[in-house]
Amino acid sequence: MLEISNLVKIYPGPVAALRDVTLEIPHGMFGLLGPNGSGKTTLMKILAGLLEPTSGRVVLDGTDVTEQPEAVWPRLGNLPQGFGFYPNLSGEAMLLHLLRLKGVAAPGGLRRLCDELLERVNLTAAAKQRTKEYSGGMRQRLGIAQAIAGNPDLLIVDEPTAGLDPEERQRFYNLLPGLATERTVLLSTHIVEDVASLCPRMAFVRKGRILAATSPAEAREALSGTIYAGAATPKEVGGLPPTATLIKSHFIEGQNLCRLHLKEVDPPTGFMLSEPTLEDAYMLAMRAAEALETRPGAAA
Ligand code: ADP
Ligand code: MG
Repeated sequence: MLEISNLVKIYPGPVAALRDVTLEIPHGMFGLLGPNGSGKTTLMKILAGLLEPTSGRVVLDGTDVTEQPEAVWPRLGNLPQGFGFYPNLSGEAMLLHLLRLKGVAAPGGLRRLCDELLERVNLTAAAKQRTKEYSGGMRQRLGIAQAIAGNPDLLIVDEPTAGLDPEERQRFYNLLPGLATERTVLLSTHIVEDVASLCPRMAFVRKGRILAATSPAEAREALSGTIYAGAATPKEVGGLPPTATLIKSHFIEGQNLCRLHLKEVDPPTGFMLSEPTLEDAYMLAMRAAEALETRPGAAA
């Protein structure tokens, strides 16, 4: 269990990257979903004991991360955003180098551990290939291999699917749930599908604040009976009553398809009740927060 209490991070500027974040993260997969700049990387660096918060506390299974980061490092695996490799080293040589740096215990020898880790992330066949020839998905899997070395209690992965094509993303998804059976895996992402596919628990984050800590199922259920889908011209969309929220509109085969959140209003002609999605819940949470922020007198 990871307990985050009243975490604040102000960068010089000043930039308020985290504004009073309180969150309990249980064992298993947990998704942190928010747009770019919402503070995900800042939060993960603090959780990993790599960045000092301005105030607040982080406790991992009873150990205070902010007071004793060195005590937590051996129990922690980290795949930072944009993790890079030496391009001319093979995947195997790179991993071996990272394992040495990390100083993980390997009773059967580092080479054997290296082989086991490559096997675990399905890179055995590419072990001798240079990392510069790796696809984005292979790089991320190599990143996971170094992160899980030493069998950490907490695995932090920051935006691991950014830039992966849909097929690579699916292959990456296959890897993660198996790693979350006996540890906490914290995944940050701006991609709703990552959380919908992988995370039984999650939080929406925006501008350094947690908007909701919930599960995808709960978030969808809360919208049951309020989401409508249909085609509408921009003019029709403009004429919606103020109690209706346009969640998204996009063109499909020349038709402007819209999703609407309606409360106690009849749907426009041609709109049908639709199953809520996690994306609906996410977009609505962001809209509601935005409305609060732009209220006169709201804090910037
Ligand atoms: P995310 O990972 O969700 O994109 P970040 O944690 O990287 O968000 O950034 C949160 C906010 O803090 C952004 O406004 C970003 O510009 C700012 N920020 C991040 N790192 C620094 C830094 N070292 N100095 C000043 N501002 C920073
Ligand atoms: Mg980030």
